[in-house]
Amino acid sequence: MKVLRLHPGRERSLLRHHPWVFESAIASGRADSGETVRVESASGDFLCWAAYSPQSKIRARAWSFDAAERIDSAFFAQRIRRAVAARAALPGCAASNALRLVHAESDGLPGLVVDRYGDVLVAQFGAAGVERHKAALADALLAATGCTLLYERSDASSRALEGLQPTTGWLRGGNAHTPTRHELREHHWRLSLDIATGHKTGFYLDQRDNRKRFFDWCAQRRPQRVLNTFCYSGGFSVAALAALQSVGALDGATQVISVDSSAPALALAQGNVALNGLSADACTWVDADVNAYLRQCLDQGARFDAIVLDPPKLAPTAAQADRAARAYKDLNRLALKLLAPGGFLFTFSCSGGIGVDLFHKIVASAGADAGVNAQVAERLGAAADHPMTLAFPEGEYLKGLVLVADAAV
Ligand code: SAH
Repeated sequence: MKVLRLHPGRERSLLRHHPWVFESAIASGRADSGETVRVESASGDFLCWAAYSPQSKIRARAWSFDAAERIDSAFFAQRIRRAVAARAALPGCAASNALRLVHAESDGLPGLVVDRYGDVLVAQFGAAGVERHKAALADALLAATGCTLLYERSDASSRALEGLQPTTGWLRGGNAHTPTRHELREHHWRLSLDIATGHKTGFYLDQRDNRKRFFDWCAQRRPQRVLNTFCYSGGFSVAALAALQSVGALDGATQVISVDSSAPALALAQGNVALNGLSADACTWVDADVNAYLRQCLDQGARFDAIVLDPPKLAPTAAQADRAARAYKDLNRLALKLLAPGGFLFTFSCSGGIGVDLFHKIVASAGADAGVNAQVAERLGAAADHPMTLAFPEGEYLKGLVLVADAAV
């Protein structure tokens, strides 16, 4: 077994079970891509078993902090079973037939993301360790779920940091004729997605609870003018329309504008409105850059009763935080200005590099610049099938606020 020896004092985060070993912490030792290594402190004490990644700044990711553990197929099968069982035990998981089954480091499987859409699994192998043990992990996933179809979407740009090539296609059970288009059930609605061409594994499962919350807010406050920016496949638009319909408030005056710069996403979104039998007349689909569109709305004096602001990951790591902070602030400033009195804004950041406190500061400063005061009615995060652990706070990436603009009196 190959050994990584750390510099003195660099064992501290591992002793707290944080799973990353940075290149700069290592005094000696090397191994092949994904190979299991024994990580030791400068004085030779066992710290963890880890997967070595020769090209990444995160040079090793811990599998286990138990010296007696063997990192083999049985180990992977047990970790997968544990992750699947944890989802089955979550309250409310019957609200959807689509779930995140494995959330990487937070499930003790660094770099592995697995989403389930009905009977099909979609996996992203994002680090050298899970790449090396792909076959054992794939077998374990089928065994733990009873699914027979597993599609690989290992095409995230972050794979390059691990020195891995993009790979996509059926890993288990499918062939060139197996459909990649699927339909999921979520709360009161259905949404279709394509696991081969959609973003990430095909869909943004992390926003599931927040789409329901948006439904609740729309049902309660009956907004007539709704603006869903960065709409992707239209989940928040469908939620708004479904809510208004459920309370009998979907009528000729309803206007739901959905904006995205991806034409295929907008086509999917339009299809999702039809799939749910919701009014196409109420919908406007806009293929545009959101920032430019918001400015145009302001110039035209438009106002909205409900706005969703869900930009893509502008700061994947802390290094990009400064530039991203300016972009988030600008978007939030524009959205707050566009809120009608009493209107509400669901604003999000899914950037790992922007923490909760910083996000709140950015939004507060956007409000100050906009000259808009608003109440923070709710704080939002990712759905519980995207857990974080106490030892790995980086697992918390999605944060959101529900802001309510002061009503006219
Ligand atoms: N709210 C969505 C997920 C949003 S993902 C949901 O619930 O499913 C972010 C979306 O922003 C993607 O669809 C991407 O195409 C879009 N996007 C990225 N940059 C953009 C820009 N500058 N203007 C408009 N849309 C953009």
